[in-house]
Amino acid sequence: KEFAEVSIKDIDQVAKSSFPPCMRHLFEKLREDHHLKHGGRMQLGLFLKGVGLKLDDALAFWKAEFSQKVGAERFDKEYAYSIRHNYGREGKRTDYTPYSCQKIISSTPGVGDHHGCPYRHFSEENLRAALGRMGVNSGALENVMDKVQNRHYQLACTLTFESIHGSSHDAGINHPNQYFSDSQKIFKS
Ligand code: SF4
Repeated sequence: KEFAEVSIKDIDQVAKSSFPPCMRHLFEKLREDHHLKHGGRMQLGLFLKGVGLKLDDALAFWKAEFSQKVGAERFDKEYAYSIRHNYGREGKRTDYTPYSCQKIISSTPGVGDHHGCPYRHFSEENLRAALGRMGVNSGALENVMDKVQNRHYQLACTLTFESIHGSSHDAGINHPNQYFSDSQKIFKS
């Protein structure tokens, strides 16, 4: 991996500075509700694995939230398995890869789900609010919304990245983990 490991103590800070909108939303919802449905757990869980969160840290991270909602015992019984599974420690021991933008954009979140791509799945009002909170200025916001209207979601995400980081991103965003590592490169350079 070209980027360093992320540990639990840094996670809130890097979520704020370097998570793309899809993962920021899941992260904030998890902190708020102490729960995510299956689709959200997969999308965020594999992304966190991709940013370098180790299995033990991942278990501690999810447990700290879920046990506030369902209790520690139920977490260990019902949820810990699938986290170990994502890390290839259970079942067929496949090392699952984090989802690409294309996969996330074509997902179909239902009621109560928080996975998916905000550019594709949020209402215009919610999207504007989320991007405003991320620090996208009003001029850039109109360009982003224009891309969204034309269904160019990854271009919308690229413009968001450029606005927040004050730096061009010529390759374009095609993977949430690429968004993360390119962001970290800028902040750490
Ligand atoms: Fe996430 Fe990709 Fe959508 Fe950006 S374009 S919010 S990285 S799924």
